[in-house]
Amino acid sequence: MLGNSFRNILQNFIVQMEEMPDTIGSHCQNVLTEPCRFLRIGKITADYYESRLAEEMDTPQRHIMYQCTNAAGDYTHEIRKVTRMGSTVVYRVYPITGEDDWDEEERQRLDMLLKVLFVFNGRTNLMKANYYLTFHDPDMGIYNLKYFFRTINELINTNAIIGYAAIYINLKRFSAVNLQLGREIGTKVMRRFIGSINDMLKNKEHIARIGGDNFAILVKQENLEKMVDMLKGSAVVYDDNSGERILIIASAGVYVIDGSIPVTSYTDVMDRISVAVAAAKSSSSDTIAYFDHDMMEKNENALRVISGLAGALENEEFLIYYQPKVSMSDCRLVGAEALCRWRRNGRLMKPAEFIPILERNMNICKLDFYMLDHACRDIHRWLDEGKNVVKISVNLSRRHLSDMDLLEHIINIIDRNNVPHQYIELELTETTTDVEFNVLKRLITGLQEAGISTSVDDFGVGYSSLTLIKDIPWNVLKVDKSFLPESGQEYDVKMLIMLKYVVAIAHDLGLECVAEGVETREQIELLRENSCNIIQGFYFDCPLPVAEFETRLDGYRYTMK
Ligand code: C2E
Ligand code: MG
Ligand code: MG
Repeated sequence: MLGNSFRNILQNFIVQMEEMPDTIGSHCQNVLTEPCRFLRIGKITADYYESRLAEEMDTPQRHIMYQCTNAAGDYTHEIRKVTRMGSTVVYRVYPITGEDDWDEEERQRLDMLLKVLFVFNGRTNLMKANYYLTFHDPDMGIYNLKYFFRTINELINTNAIIGYAAIYINLKRFSAVNLQLGREIGTKVMRRFIGSINDMLKNKEHIARIGGDNFAILVKQENLEKMVDMLKGSAVVYDDNSGERILIIASAGVYVIDGSIPVTSYTDVMDRISVAVAAAKSSSSDTIAYFDHDMMEKNENALRVISGLAGALENEEFLIYYQPKVSMSDCRLVGAEALCRWRRNGRLMKPAEFIPILERNMNICKLDFYMLDHACRDIHRWLDEGKNVVKISVNLSRRHLSDMDLLEHIINIIDRNNVPHQYIELELTETTTDVEFNVLKRLITGLQEAGISTSVDDFGVGYSSLTLIKDIPWNVLKVDKSFLPESGQEYDVKMLIMLKYVVAIAHDLGLECVAEGVETREQIELLRENSCNIIQGFYFDCPLPVAEFETRLDGYRYTMK
């Protein structure tokens, strides 16, 4: 009789476990409180000690059974098991007060029952392992994006999202940290930095890894300021013996969720923090950017630009304007730069409105090839018409440098338009990394061999490097307008010294020097004094539509105003 009941209990137990793994707790209670002789022990406590993991996962304690009424609180039976996940499960079994202690047979049965419990536990641990891997980043020991998305959606669905701030962080120049300290220490530094953010988080605040050195944080707005301070820069010890530290700074895009813009899903939150972090990354002054209406509009505009690109290329909505380059010595046209304009819905858009957006990815390359192709078509036509054609320079974004076949692509475009190479010049801006430098060097050398000129655009903006002009066989150096005093402004003596030496170095290295953005007579005089003879700027001409530029091609004489 007793044996049968026990077997029944075990059978129920196992079957129920398999069918309903999520409701183990309630079934355990039902089974074990069923009146039968075995339950002479009445109430069993399975104290369920789990590592922090269990709390983190918000897992309800599944194996709880009633505590015994033993006044002394002694337990007579205990089984512990350390699981593979590193957590410990302890079952303690108590006799009912006043009952005799169990006999040997009962103990054996109890053991069996507890073994069965361990089987459950194995199952639930497996589920937990599965859960852990689904929702965690094992390298950093924090949640992953999937968990983050789920949490945001839960907060939205329970109307609890307002009052939070979401943050997208990207560790600044982390590849340089890896290079400097080695990958292994780099990972340790990242883990420590993220660990200290994690330590700052309060109840119901979260950090998750997006991937690489990108993370997302969800904090209550009252704790945002502290978090932002931390992200602006924090020293991380990377060598415990010497105590040596490295400063880690994060670019951060913050979205304060105040309800002013509706939030219907995690995608709204992710889109907004992504936009904000992009603004933070591209800002030269701030590492933190806050999402606002203005940013939202810019983002919508960016999406319109990107989605409109393919159609615009096909419908030839992009126009080439040509800005003349003039030689000061004889006031003649010596070249021109092809600059892009987008005629869209009856409005002419300047490059500043769409080039930086297209430069975020390889989209810019499609436009640059289009511009090169259309410039070649114009040159071909002008040659056919017997015009005095000058060299036309076309801008190439640095994004192209990842194109392994760039040189062939360029030459193909020029050759299929039957344009002699001497009429083409390509303008590229400076590079910052060694890898880019080598790629750039190979490209410029290849173009040189093909008889195609190249120029360093905007020299002097950003981090100009003399190595760049010394080691790469450029033809032209375009001195940025920031070297020139603005009209009506005092001369900055240091700038003037730099202008003088930049022009001198360029000439000594055999480069032609072109001054960009020249607007005033004073600037012209200054450039003349410093032997910079070729001028591109409003002083002579703005970028001109094709028909107007064509009037400059046949011996047009500029005048000094
Ligand atoms: P950039 O290559 O340095 O082109 C020179 C810019 O300076 C042009 O602006 C030109 O209109 C402007 N500029 C010329 N003279 C003066 C002047 O006297 N004063 C002032 N304040 N500005 C002057 P734009 O046409 O707006 O182009 C801006 C930038 O957009 C270009 O700078 C270039 O980096 C980029 N861009 C334009 N077209 C293309 C293109 O087809 N492909 C790529 N990748 N970039 C392009
Ligand atoms: Mg240019
Ligand atoms: Mg320029």
